[in-house]
Amino acid sequence: MLSLIQSFRDSHLAKKIIQRIENLAGGELFRIVHVCGTHEDTITKYGIRNMLPENVEVLMGPGCPVCTVPPNKIDAAIKIAEKGVILTTFGDMMRVPSGHGSLADANARGADLRIVYSIHDSVKIAERTEKQVVHLAVGFETTAPTSAAEILANPPKNFSIYSAHLLIPPAMMYLLESGESPIHGFILPGHVSTIIGSAGYREVAERFKIPQVVAGFEPLDVLFAISMILKQSVDGRGEVENEYSRVVKEGGNPKAQRMMAHVFDKVDGAWRGIGLIKSSGLSLKREFEEYDASKKFHIEAEEDYAMPKGCRCGEVLKAVIYPWDCPLFNSSCTPDNPIGPCMVSHEGSCYISATYGAFGWRKRG
Ligand code: SF4
Repeated sequence: MLSLIQSFRDSHLAKKIIQRIENLAGGELFRIVHVCGTHEDTITKYGIRNMLPENVEVLMGPGCPVCTVPPNKIDAAIKIAEKGVILTTFGDMMRVPSGHGSLADANARGADLRIVYSIHDSVKIAERTEKQVVHLAVGFETTAPTSAAEILANPPKNFSIYSAHLLIPPAMMYLLESGESPIHGFILPGHVSTIIGSAGYREVAERFKIPQVVAGFEPLDVLFAISMILKQSVDGRGEVENEYSRVVKEGGNPKAQRMMAHVFDKVDGAWRGIGLIKSSGLSLKREFEEYDASKKFHIEAEEDYAMPKGCRCGEVLKAVIYPWDCPLFNSSCTPDNPIGPCMVSHEGSCYISATYGAFGWRKRG
């Protein structure tokens, strides 16, 4: 692995792009934010931050679908599970702490929680049992279409979902509006963009005139995207460009978009460590409410977006700090003993930084 990483860093093309980035970067601080755990994995694994000029920073924003699920949703899912139903979800969700412990704690107390690889596995469980089966549906535009597809396929009536789906472009606009940290450009997530297309960020471009580039997941993709963002800035442009055109189309996947629009209403979405963001959540439409676990089990989620005491994951998710700026990082909070959700999930930036070690970190000053 190390020789692979070193050969990338030594490659003629990588050196050439870094040279171009240095030429474009000037001397001002330039903060680029991405919103994708897979991008963070590439950036950290290949030590890309340490290849960049000192004034070009790359931070991860709210791109981890597990870290962003608020504790009130997890608590509500636990309440549902404790009503004697089978609750299914993805493996990363099990250890995420909420106000009343984690799903794994509820499992230890006797609730029937099962890890699945997709919502389809959950439907299959429902087909084989008389019990109620509820899928805790998390994720962004990448997983929401599969939830919509299962609902449209008329699953058994003992199946329902508890939706914690969230949408990425409203979160990007929230970060820009809040002004909590300066953002000069976005690397756009490849997976989300396959669904919403480069056109899905048009509103961000129109309102904020900020450089944005859809990027693939190879290290060269990320370097290209950074150079394209800097070039837009030098040219005084703030638009959406597509570095990942081998996969992402301007219009994205219209069929997936239609399914989402058919099944879900956009509602204000709750993001852990951030709060409510307008029109950033997805709730089942009234015509599908027989599949809505919150209606079926009369569960209201109380407002709660908090992080565990001392955990700065909220600032990590808002791209205000790097994981290693948190005093608990790699001391009391580690992948084996996570305190906050950013250290639990494989897509959390604290987990990724801790896993690859100091090679991927970049200390300021
Ligand atoms: S290192 Fe742990 S405690 Fe600190 S922000 Fe990350 S998850 Fe939270």
